[in-house]
Amino acid sequence: MRSRQARGGVLIAGGGFAGGYVARLLGRAGATIVSPENFMLYTPILPEAASGTLEPRHVVVPLRQMCPHAELLLGRVRGLDEAQRLVEVETEDAGPFELEYEHLVLALGSVARTFPVPGLAEHALGFKDLADAIQLRNRVLRELEAAAAELDDVEAESHLTFVFVGAGYAGVEALAELSDLVADALRYYPGLATTPQRWVLVDAAPKILPEIPTRLGDYAARELARRGVEIHVGTTLESLGPREAVLSNGVRIPTRTLVWTAGVKAHPLLGELGLPLDERGRVVVDELLRVRGRERVWALGDAAAVPNTRTPAHVDPPTCQHALRQARRLAKNLQGDLEPYGYRMLGQVATLGRYRGVADVLGLRFRGFPGWFVARSYHLLQLPLVSRKLRVVADWTTSLFFRRDIAELSMLGHPHRLGDSDAE
Ligand SMILES: Cc1cc2nc3c(=O)[nH]c(=O)nc-3n(C[C@H](O)[C@H](O)[C@H](O)COP(=O)(O)OP(=O)(O)OC[C@H]3O[C@@H](n4cnc5c(N)ncnc54)[C@H](O)[C@@H]3O)c2cc1C
Repeated sequence: MRSRQARGGVLIAGGGFAGGYVARLLGRAGATIVSPENFMLYTPILPEAASGTLEPRHVVVPLRQMCPHAELLLGRVRGLDEAQRLVEVETEDAGPFELEYEHLVLALGSVARTFPVPGLAEHALGFKDLADAIQLRNRVLRELEAAAAELDDVEAESHLTFVFVGAGYAGVEALAELSDLVADALRYYPGLATTPQRWVLVDAAPKILPEIPTRLGDYAARELARRGVEIHVGTTLESLGPREAVLSNGVRIPTRTLVWTAGVKAHPLLGELGLPLDERGRVVVDELLRVRGRERVWALGDAAAVPNTRTPAHVDPPTCQHALRQARRLAKNLQGDLEPYGYRMLGQVATLGRYRGVADVLGLRFRGFPGWFVARSYHLLQLPLVSRKLRVVADWTTSLFFRRDIAELSMLGHPHRLGDSDAE
C-alpha cells in the first residue's frame, strides 16, 4: 500500500473541536489532519443553523483557514498498526493509503447513542452534525406545508407535533430554536391559524438540562412550559412509528417528527484499534493525555476518558469547553512542555430560542435576556477566526430586524440530471 509521512511527525485523526484546536495550536510545528470534512463544526450554535438564524456556512470553520500550517487530508482513519507506527486512511478521491507518524492524536469524537427502541432507527431524526440540522429544518418546514395542504384537522395537528427525546443542551436548544422558527413561519400560513401545534420534550432523567445549576434548570423548564412545551421527565420512548410515538408513561403522541438527542457514545472505530478503553468505549488516557501504556499515542475530546487534576473525582464530560482546554494542554505536551492537564469549568450557558437563555459564569447566574446575551457573547468569543465572528454577528444583527427565512431547500445537493424535467 502507498504510504507517506505525517507533517511534523504529528498525525491528528479527526478535525472536529479537539483535533482542529490541537492543529491550530501546534502552529508552525505542523501536523497532518485526517478528517472526512474540510471544516470544524462549532456545535453550540448548530441549533441556530437549524432555525435559520445563522447561515449554515457560518457555523463551521474551514480547517485550512483555521490551521494554515497543517496539512489536511480528506478521508477516514480505518486502522492502526502501532508496531509500525502506521495509520490506514481511506480517501474518496485517492483511495486507501498509509500514514507514518511520530505521534498520533486520536480526536475521533462521538456518535449518537441509541437504544433498541422499536422504530427508532427507521423513523427518528438525529441532531449531531450540520447535515442533521439542515435536514431537521427542511423537515419542519415541509411539515408546515403538509399541514397547510391537509383537509383533516387531526392529521394537520399531527404534522404540527414535534417530539424531542433527550433534554440536554442539544435537545433543549434545538427545540427552543425550532419552535421559534415555527411561530415566525405560521404568520405566512393563515389556514393554520386555528391548528394547535404541539412541542414535546422527553427525558429519562428527573429534570431537564442536568448539566446546569438546579435553579437555572428550573427556570429553563418554566420558560419552556410557559411557551406551551409539554415536558415528560423520568420518561423514555417505548416505540416509534411513522405516525406515532409511544412513551413509557403510556402517552401516545400522533407525530411525524421525532428528534433523538439522547446523548453520545465514543466513536465505534476506537474499539478496533487495540487500545485500552473504559466501560463507555472511550480511550483511557493519563493526566498528560497520553493513551495508557503508550508513548506516542494521545487522545482527547469526546473520544477519550480524560482525568482532570482539578476535578479528581471524575473524568471530563463531553463538552466543547473541555475539548478546547485539553487541546491547549496536548499541543504543549506534544512540543515537549509536559505537564498534567487540569481545568475547572468557568461556567455553563444555554440559549432558549430568541432573547431567552441561562448562564452560570464565575458563580454569577443570569437568566432571560441577560442569560441569552451572556450565552451568545461567550460563543462569539470562543469562535475561531475574526471573519467567522463577523459573519455570525451580521446574521444575528439581521435577525433583529427581519423575520426568519422560511424557504425549504431540501433539494440542495440533489440537482436534476441534465435533460430531466417534471414535464417529461
Ligand atoms: C448539537 C450539539 C450541541 C452541542 N452543544 C454544546 C454546547 O453548547 N456546549 C458544549 O460545551 N458542548 C456542546 N456540544 C458537545 C461538543 O460538540 C463536543 O463535546 C465536542 O465537539 C467534542 O469535540 P471532539 O473533537 O471530541 O468531537 P467532534 O467535534 O465531534 O469531532 C470529531 C471529528 O472526527 C471526525 N471523524 C469521525 N470519524 C472519523 C474517521 N474515521 N477518521 C477521521 N475523522 C473522523 C468527525 O467528522 C469530526 O470532525 C454539543 C454537541 C452537539 C452534537
